[in-house]
Amino acid sequence: MFAAVAFLALVQQAPDLDKFVLPVSKPIACPPVSIDVTDLPDAMPWAEKAKTLVEEWFPQITALLDTKDYRVPSEIKLVVKKKINVPAYTSNATITINGEWITQHPDDLGMVVHELVHVVQHYPGGKTNVGWLVEGIADYIRWWRYEPEYFATHGRPKIDPAKSKYSDAYRTTAYWLAYVGKKYDSRLVFDLDSAMRHRQDPLGVFKNLTGKEPQELWDEFIEQKP
Ligand SMILES: [Zn+2]
Repeated sequence: MFAAVAFLALVQQAPDLDKFVLPVSKPIACPPVSIDVTDLPDAMPWAEKAKTLVEEWFPQITALLDTKDYRVPSEIKLVVKKKINVPAYTSNATITINGEWITQHPDDLGMVVHELVHVVQHYPGGKTNVGWLVEGIADYIRWWRYEPEYFATHGRPKIDPAKSKYSDAYRTTAYWLAYVGKKYDSRLVFDLDSAMRHRQDPLGVFKNLTGKEPQELWDEFIEQKP
């Protein structure tokens, strides 16, 4: 009798263990990856490395996001152009890379992981597809899952408490997501991704998981100076 009562008390006081566990989906095998370097044939060795990275990281990225209903593209294309005005961009399952950028930054393979996240995100259009958050999640996977050891030297964003915002996108948003996820609930990024896939308001996820609004969580982040 005493044991049963004690057990009941333990159950009632048990913390919500789910919030400490990083949720994962079943990893999905990478579809065929093609390379097009007709515009810059010298980029072939780099493109081969990028292809291997895509093949190895596609299953890992699909595991980190809510991909159970994700429709896998029939092919992922890596296209290197001589020069474009950004380091890289992604349209559906085609990643276009700036040859000039990779010539100057040959070690920037993390950028490929960022772009590959966009291939897996492939969110439906509409109001729920919040651009800054899409970029923040892509950089979160790059800097916290793919190359966290380089965060301190290459990834740390300049945050100005007077000017920076949680919606600054990229590394600033990514850093904040990592902080909030670690402090409050490991399901944060997974649930934000899930909401955008299902045309739900992703900002409501913050209140659901933490009881706080994004701005309160940003103020906390700034105060902690992580
Ligand atoms: Zn991006």
